[in-house]
Amino acid sequence: MSEVSASNATAPPCKPRVAVHKFSSCDGCQLALLNAGEALLALAERVDLVHFAEAGPMDPEAEVDIAFVEGSVSTPEDRSRIVRVRSNSRFLVTLGACATAGGIQALRNFADGDGWLGAVYASPEFVSSLAQVSPIREHVHVDLELWGCPVSGRQVVSAVGSLLAGAPPAVPDERLCLECKRQQAVCVMVTRGAPCMGPVTRTGCGALCPRFERDCYGCYGPAEHSNTQALGRRFAGLGLVDEAVVRRFHFINSQAPAFLEAGQRARGHADD
Ligand code: SF4
Ligand code: SF4
Repeated sequence: MSEVSASNATAPPCKPRVAVHKFSSCDGCQLALLNAGEALLALAERVDLVHFAEAGPMDPEAEVDIAFVEGSVSTPEDRSRIVRVRSNSRFLVTLGACATAGGIQALRNFADGDGWLGAVYASPEFVSSLAQVSPIREHVHVDLELWGCPVSGRQVVSAVGSLLAGAPPAVPDERLCLECKRQQAVCVMVTRGAPCMGPVTRTGCGALCPRFERDCYGCYGPAEHSNTQALGRRFAGLGLVDEAVVRRFHFINSQAPAFLEAGQRARGHADD
């Protein structure tokens, strides 16, 4: 046996390398990951966290096995950086509503963004932003999308475990109403006529809002095969004007195709 192979035999096995990148976002998803507590500590034992600015390690150009991306693409710098992140990563996973469906900042896609800039900033000429805010999948291939605003830290840790084991990660996509019933929450739409997005929103939050007697506002994005047309009609039946129905769909996940289309459909009525 050569000296090289002998030293390899005693070397500890390489841990998978993981990075967490921030784009245009509020950092809430990174905080949710940090708040995963024991699950994150267990993950940190199994992987080498090479870039996670919120937690300490900084190496943004590192080549990694898994890159998590928080935030949407809203500046020219974001647009070129996401291409580099993709080419440095084996798997790319989006973290939360901003990265997966535009986030709150994508609301400017429906407005006069330059007008807002002028109203908010004293010197708007120093702000460099793209005309439209877009989710990561519109720029590079994405291997897995994790929803939520913020994302569930435990869901992230579980997804890493699956990816490293070569198994497809299990991301729930059933409607929130099912989870709501399992949690035995009283339906706020039936009892109070609140315009709840639960019938078209994927679960993942544990039905947090209905359990606190408020309507879901769709932060986990559209469930598979959600009937947004029927829910739009239900909202109208509850007394919402067309513009209010638009705002239910065009909110945190406005660039998710199902919600984008539902809002545009309602806006079509609004423009009649
Ligand atoms: S998805 Fe929500 S919590 Fe996460 S970065 Fe965007 S705004 Fe913040
Ligand atoms: S409160 Fe909302 S999520 Fe719960 S059952 Fe009613 S409509 Fe569905």
